[in-house]
Amino acid sequence: MIELKNVSKTYANGTKGLNRISLSVDKGEFVVIVGLSGAGKSTLLRSINRLHDITEGEIIIDGSSITRASGKRLRRIRRDIGMIFQSFNLVKRTTVLRNVLAGRVGYHPTWRTILGLFPKPDQELAFQALERVNIVEKAYTRADELSGGQQQRVAIARVLAQEAKIILADEPVASLDPLTTKQVMDDLKRINQDLGITTIVNLHFIDPARQYATRIIGLRAGEVVFDGPVEDATDEK
Ligand code: ADP
Ligand code: ADP
Repeated sequence: MIELKNVSKTYANGTKGLNRISLSVDKGEFVVIVGLSGAGKSTLLRSINRLHDITEGEIIIDGSSITRASGKRLRRIRRDIGMIFQSFNLVKRTTVLRNVLAGRVGYHPTWRTILGLFPKPDQELAFQALERVNIVEKAYTRADELSGGQQQRVAIARVLAQEAKIILADEPVASLDPLTTKQVMDDLKRINQDLGITTIVNLHFIDPARQYATRIIGLRAGEVVFDGPVEDATDEK
């Protein structure tokens, strides 16, 4: 589903974010990437979705090279990839429903969507997505009136409405308390199991990783220092 071949990312200032990473993630896997701040976790996820270009190597998504794609083909590949961020990245001053519909209609509003005229199938999909993360009663609430955990669940619903095949979650629980962390991680895990969405989650603590991951990848200074089943992962790694 996702294959990285000898991938390096060097930033403009010379910092090496990733150093010759090769790995592959199968369809339906729930992978947690762990590593201290600065280890390269975020660089890795941003490279997979090509939010930035890599310096060396190639990344293949579902058989297509995202590294070589451009224009329509790049947009096509990206449609299958949903991103979740630490800071939720919702449109604050608009409703939950509109935020979720943004996953559906893309980031290019038309005069119809600006007027709130969303096609019925899109609305149904958005409500289904909100139900899946148990937040349907907030559909008409403004996004910035929700708690952090609720906002993150809206961000998950947006990715579901997008009908993404891959979820990349960059420190999705870093700003949440332990109880909310559990809710968000439970949601991600349930969605992975029910819908078979390939999921990669970045975390800077190994503890939540142990509970949820089927596989842990440890990063340090842009290199893979561990890759295996949860049982074998220790704190030193
Ligand atoms: P993590 O997500 O594990 O905290 P990052 O991927 O954010 O790590 O960072 C990996 C390395 O790349 C760090 O040394 C960081 O300082 C550096 N880095 C990240 N983004 C940039 C950037 N835009 N410009 C220069 N260096 C960067
Ligand atoms: P454009 O070049 O037209 O501004 P982009 O290259 O930013 O468009 O995005 C191309 C497609 O990828 C769009 O359909 C957009 O919805 C989708 N996309 C962009 N960024 C993300 C993201 N972080 N997560 C999911 N989809 C994204």
